[in-house]
Parts: sequence; structure tokens; C-alpha cells
Amino acid sequence: MKVSIIGAGYVGLVTGVCMAEKGHKVICMDVDQQKVNKISRAIPPIYERGLEELLKRNINVNLFATTDLYEAVMESEISLVTVGTPFKGNEINLIYIKEVSHQIGKILKNKPEYHLIVVKSTVVPGTTDEIVRPIIEEASCKKAGIDFGVGMNPEFLREGEAVEDFMFPDRIVLGADDTKSYEILEKLYKPFKGVDIIKTNNKTAEMIKYTSNTLLATMISFSNEIANLCTALGNVDVVEVMRGVHLDKRLSPILSNGNRLVPDFTKYIEAGCGFGGSCFPKDVKALIAHGKKVGNPMRLLEAVIEINERQPYQVFCILKKEFKSLKGVRVAILGLAFKPGTDDMRESPAIPIIKELLMEGAEINAYDPVAMNEAARILNSNNKIRYCYDIHQALENVKAVVLLTRWEEFRKIPDLLSKLDPQPILIDGRRMIEKKNVAEYRGIGISE
Ligand code: NAD
Repeated sequence: MKVSIIGAGYVGLVTGVCMAEKGHKVICMDVDQQKVNKISRAIPPIYERGLEELLKRNINVNLFATTDLYEAVMESEISLVTVGTPFKGNEINLIYIKEVSHQIGKILKNKPEYHLIVVKSTVVPGTTDEIVRPIIEEASCKKAGIDFGVGMNPEFLREGEAVEDFMFPDRIVLGADDTKSYEILEKLYKPFKGVDIIKTNNKTAEMIKYTSNTLLATMISFSNEIANLCTALGNVDVVEVMRGVHLDKRLSPILSNGNRLVPDFTKYIEAGCGFGGSCFPKDVKALIAHGKKVGNPMRLLEAVIEINERQPYQVFCILKKEFKSLKGVRVAILGLAFKPGTDDMRESPAIPIIKELLMEGAEINAYDPVAMNEAARILNSNNKIRYCYDIHQALENVKAVVLLTRWEEFRKIPDLLSKLDPQPILIDGRRMIEKKNVAEYRGIGISE
């Protein structure tokens, strides 16, 4: 099939590359000329495991990049819209969605063939039917369901595992409201065999995405609330508490051979320094705002955000307890991105923690296996942060080590710390290190 992807960011580029790998002819369109140049030269503008290999294999074969929307729409039978939908002020900002809808509509005026426009960006329920469709109808002077189709196909990939998730999806949700649109969507996903498919209307497709993300975010904030109570109680370690909870057979069923099935879901029921990234914070906020707008306040989700925004400060509080003043105290920050496997710094808990430390006069050694450039761009700290080329350099002359991202590489921290004299304290913001292996261990959800 000939497919165009409008917006070649995290989702758009991964979608484009994977669809090309599956045999479709794909045009990735973006307004960012630099991004398009990079993609055309097989240089991924973002870090994602496996992305470069697939990009190299498909570029200028099955995959093309352009800034020309007209060409992208005219040369394809389906357009997947993957532009950003940030949260701005007090609601979701649909400016990019509206802009693209209007531009596609104008192009469709000159296109005699049926074209399907599919919203893949995360948008609040009702957006595809009540905003995208009328904008395209007005700009094209054509009728949805007759001259063109409008569908909704939410994306569930996780950053850090994006290529794997896209190539082997756990579900495919197809929103549409006419037979022809469903047929085109089914053809698009035909190469993905053996996957559960939900065919539904656009609004339900939009709601499925929000419900999935807000459920996971709720589990994280719930775990962090429990963790903070454990700290306050004393002599209770949240890691042991959660281990006990995870063994509930409804969470980790016992198989007939006696082994446990440990679902990925349990990873969201663990204590930490909060969730970040480009999705959870903005999606929870967008649904809260949308609930308010339709007269249905979302009290639980309001608490989820409140707990999450406070959580990075738990790390900071531990440091403040250890050092009367942080002025001149050198601290290693290990992990800058919001999660392992990505260089995405958006809403990373590392940002408020580093900012707070700098304000208190601490000196910072920062290290992340892939997010260093992105961190330097976002933190813009006037050389106040020393960006280290490896974990060894990051540990030089520090009094405290703060672990913020669950990179596997950080499992060797106890070993590295044991070679230092004196040993700095470790503040484990992700509770990934065994406390018995570190001389001076502190962490979320445990009081020393
Ligand atoms: P992103 O910011 O990485 O990419 C958006 C891209 O759209 C940018 O490259 C931007 O230049 C481009 N763009 C903006 N206006 C445009 C226009 N008029 N025409 C063409 N391109 C334009 O965003 P993202 O992380 O890929 O997210 C995109 C959407 O997918 C969001 O709604 C997000 O919530 C959703 N989503 C993201 C993830 C994720 O893990 N990042 C996962 C699932 C869903």
C-alpha cells in the first residue's frame, strides 16, 4: 500500500520505518527540514534500539522523506497523522492536528480518488469526529464517508522499545465509521499477523488510548504514595511490601508447572521518583481537563498528577537530610532520560531534581548512556553541569550518587562504589539496587 505519515517524530518515524519494513511504500512528511534531511541520509534523529538498522535498509527503497505535504498526500491512499498533541495551559493543544487537517483538506480538493486520513496522535475523545472531520470537509468541499474517510488508530508503542512494540504489537485498535475506511485500515495492518484487533468507532478508539495510559500512570502514583508512607512509618521497606503484593496470584498467576508468570504490568507497581516522558503526564492532564469540560471531574487522576509532581522532591529531601547544606557538594546524577532505552528528556524527573540541586549550590556530574546531548540541550545550565563520558568519570570525587533511570548498566554501581574510599552515599530513586550491596544506601520508600 502507499502510505503517508504526517509528522516524522518518535511515533511517525517509527511507524514509517516499520510500515516500510512490512512492505508498504511509505512517505514520511515533516515540516522540520533538518529532520527530513537526516532521515533521507539514514540518520535517525532520535535514539531507538533497532531504528537505525531498519531505516538504513528501507530508505530510498520503501521509505522516502519529504517536507512536501502535497506530494505525500497525492502519492498515497492513506495518511497517518502523527503530529504532536502537547498539553498547554489547561488543555490539550490541537493546533498541529487542526493545521494538518486543514492542509490535507485543501489538497483533497484536487484529488479525485478516495483518501483515508487516520489520526494516530493521542487526542481527547471526540477530536477525530468533531474537529478533524469537519475541518477536512470544509477545506476540501467534500463529504466524509463518501469522498474520503476519517479514522482513528491510537499508537501504543513504548519509547525505548518502540521498534519492537510496533513490529509485534499487543493490540491494534481501528476506529472508523464507514466500511471502506475499515477495509483500508485492515489492509494496512494485514502484514501484522496474529494480533488482536478491535474495530470500533473513533471516539472509543481515542478513549482506549487514554484509559490505557492513565491506568498505568495511576498504578505508578499509587505505588509512590505507598512508598512515601513506608518512609514515614520507618522500618518498612516498600520493595519488600511490593514483592508481597506482586505475589498475589491475580497479579502474577501460578502456572500448572508451579512457575510464576510475572506480567510486565507489575513494573508499574513499584516505587520510584515519578513518571515522565512525552505521554503519561500530558495524557493524564488532558483527560482531567477534558473530564472537567464535559462536567465530569476526574478526582483520582488529579491526585495521580499531584503525587507525581511531588515525587522527584523525595529524592531531593533525602539529600537535604544527609547534608546540612548542599553548597559545593558534588553529586553524581546517573540517568537523565525519563526511562531507559531512550534519549527522551521530556518531563524527566531528572530535570526538577537537577534544577533544585543547582539552586542549592550543589555541583553535578551527570551521566546517561544515550541522553547526554538531549539533556545538555534541555537543561541549558551554562556549564554548571559536568557531563561525563562514562559512569566511572561520573563517580569521581562525589559525596552522593543519585540513581534516576533504570539502565541495566547501573546494576554495577555497588561494585564501583565498593572501590571508592570514602564511599559516597547512594540514593536509589528507582529501587533497582539491592540495599545490602551498598554501604551507604538510601532510597525511595525506605527510611534508614
Ligand atoms: P514528536 O514531537 O516527536 O513528533 C511530532 C512531529 O510532528 C515533529 O517532528 C514535528 O516537526 C511534526 N509536525 C508538527 N507540525 C507538523 C505539520 N504541520 N506537518 C507535518 N509535521 C508536523 O511527537 P511524538 O512523541 O511522536 O508524538 C506524536 C503523537 O503520538 C502525540 O499525540 C503523542 O501523544 C502520541 N504518542 C506518542 C508516543 C511516544 O512514546 N512518543 C506513544 C504513543 C502515542
